[in-house]
Amino acid sequence: MSDEPEELYLDAAATEPVSRDVIDAMLPFLTDAYANPASVHQPGKTAARALDAARASFAADLGAKPDDVIFTSGGTEGDNLAVKGIALARMRRLGLHPSWPADESGAPGGGADIADDPVVRARRPRIVVSAIEHPAVMQSAAWLERWFGFEVVRIPVDAQAHLDLDALERALAGEAGERTTLVATMLANNEVGTVEPVERIVEIAHAHHVPVHVDAVQAAGLIPIRMRDWDVDSLAVSGHKFGTPKGLGALLVRGRVPIEPILSGGGQERGLRSGTQNVAGAVALAIALRRSDTRMAAHYRELVASRDMLIDAVRRVVPRAELTGDPERRLPGHVSFVFPGVTGEALLVDLDARGIACSSGSACAIGRHEIPPTLLAMGVEPSIAKSALRMTFREPLTREQIERISLAIEDSYTALTRR
Ligand code: PLP
Repeated sequence: MSDEPEELYLDAAATEPVSRDVIDAMLPFLTDAYANPASVHQPGKTAARALDAARASFAADLGAKPDDVIFTSGGTEGDNLAVKGIALARMRRLGLHPSWPADESGAPGGGADIADDPVVRARRPRIVVSAIEHPAVMQSAAWLERWFGFEVVRIPVDAQAHLDLDALERALAGEAGERTTLVATMLANNEVGTVEPVERIVEIAHAHHVPVHVDAVQAAGLIPIRMRDWDVDSLAVSGHKFGTPKGLGALLVRGRVPIEPILSGGGQERGLRSGTQNVAGAVALAIALRRSDTRMAAHYRELVASRDMLIDAVRRVVPRAELTGDPERRLPGHVSFVFPGVTGEALLVDLDARGIACSSGSACAIGRHEIPPTLLAMGVEPSIAKSALRMTFREPLTREQIERISLAIEDSYTALTRR
């Protein structure tokens, strides 16, 4: 028997394990019922029926209709398809004109200095995004700016990462609102767990006739999502955040929204996502989301209670530590702090050596340790933002686990500040 303490995985916001029942549900569609769902023979029809059933179950659990669901390879693809696809289709629909700033070497159109021309500027397409979007949204908006001359407007957030609704209202008022192709926001922030007022954001944007894309990657399977009740136009989710294998997700998009596909091909998924569908993957998405929603319904209070106990315990052992994000309107298994005097990177390496796996906040920033951008947008000083640590979990923590985590944080923090 080893004396090594059990490894504690506190990085569920980065990815979750795949449970046995999800694998079991997928297996028949990898072995026996493996046919292409577009084939007209009986095996193909069996696969198509499984795909339809998965689509119906998945849509119902997100408060959507089966026809809304476009299966994708994950959150990044869903965000790209929504942001680029809707913005470009609406650019055309609204009669807006691409334009490029003079210094954009390599951009199409030869880089003529037309962005300064008042006539061109009056037809320049715009996209409005919250200042705390994941790179999948932010970089898609930057791509629109680079290749089509979009004006990208970033709406600020307050010190707890809530979108500034007055700033949104101002950004959509008047002539500029008429040139706005899309508003993109998150449902819950990956770094600090704050849940955004999506229904109010939709109300404001729709009053200006602008559709809303919601990145619900961090929220799906953790808090209820009612896409149609909230009147959201498109919504991206990622399976590996709620228990499917990686590389699976969906964009839910209403038929009323103009959208141009990014992938060209055989026209699967309403023509919006060509490519032979991953039937086993769709089954996994449906089963894992149902499983995660059921687990949340049963354990939500305990999860929130253990989150709050961990927050209190961290505050007790390191009084200088400050919780980031909204203390209440936050994801249930999400704890994020800054620890002035150390770097988040040093802290997480030290905690890892003590068998506790957590994160500095911004997942998916592969191999780079950048200052968490959400914290900067919240107005946190860069030197403090560098000390961010995020602990995320899907099952309630026990008292013993909370005790062990807080003691490890105390020891790590003391050791690192003594150096
Ligand atoms: N959006 C948010 C808020 C995320 O947290 C992530 C991943 O962490 C993504 C999008 C990207 O999702 P995927 O890993 O499925 O591409």
